[in-house]
Amino acid sequence: MLPHVTASRPVFRFAPSPNGELHLGHAYSALLNADLARRAGGRLLVRMEDIDTARCRPDFEARILDDLAWLGIAVEEPVRRQSDHFARYRAALDALSALGLTYSSRASRKAIAEAVARAEAATGKPYPRDPDGAPLYPFAERDRRLAEEEAGAGDSAPAASRLFMAAAMERVPPLHWQETGEGPEGEHGLIEARPQDWGDVVLARKESPTSYHLSVVIDDAFQGVTHVVRGRDLFWSTSVHRLLQALLGLPAPVYHHHPLILDDAGRKLSKSAMTGSDKSSLRAWRDRGATPADIRRMVGLEVR
Ligand code: GLU
Repeated sequence: MLPHVTASRPVFRFAPSPNGELHLGHAYSALLNADLARRAGGRLLVRMEDIDTARCRPDFEARILDDLAWLGIAVEEPVRRQSDHFARYRAALDALSALGLTYSSRASRKAIAEAVARAEAATGKPYPRDPDGAPLYPFAERDRRLAEEEAGAGDSAPAASRLFMAAAMERVPPLHWQETGEGPEGEHGLIEARPQDWGDVVLARKESPTSYHLSVVIDDAFQGVTHVVRGRDLFWSTSVHRLLQALLGLPAPVYHHHPLILDDAGRKLSKSAMTGSDKSSLRAWRDRGATPADIRRMVGLEVR
């Protein structure tokens, strides 16, 4: 029997958020996934990460699928849409809550920013930040205490759910992941996960019953993903993903973080900043007559 028809066929996935047009960075990620999947005799799944129902739209989803087809990427049906699976994410959140690892957090963005500014003014030092540069949640201790006091009092106002990081870390052994790409400082090989660097991450928001971190680990496991190939900006998020996998008893895929395609000013391309006339939008290149081979060349992939 050929290796690629056995049950252990590798599974790759491309997981865009349908909140705008694909840009060259997405094209690179999708093509790299397709190339690596083909070389490994594996499958490539596409998953629409549309948990932000206010910003994600069916017409963007349709355009993304059309762009992928144009690039020559065969997409397995059905395409998984995260907004169809909120109950599954809720069940995982409930499991973490039952372990005493979550608490409600009601602070507004404004209150968080003010508390951070106050702390910085008082100490004269920058407030601790996560790997993306966002301040750690400043009300963690107060909210955990409140959550304990409120326990058993039933649901009150809508709130976000946060992971009680210190308690979560106590439940798991030191965690690692296998990196076949590269991190921001050239990290590769066996990487030590550092979830504590993120503080008490959000697992569900007031306006959405899940978060990126929670849904991505549930879906990668549910879809049997063995290889996660994605942008280097998500390298350190993998720490949180490994922690959630360990807490929820889910398997760890191999990770491959690839370089980002930057714009002329050296900035990361962003879907939300994109318009039809933006020269990094894939659609704009298509409209100007570029071929899929041109796109491969532009993002530095070998043309077959
Ligand atoms: N949905 C994420 C994005 O569009 C990708 C998440 C992932 O690959 O883990 O950037």
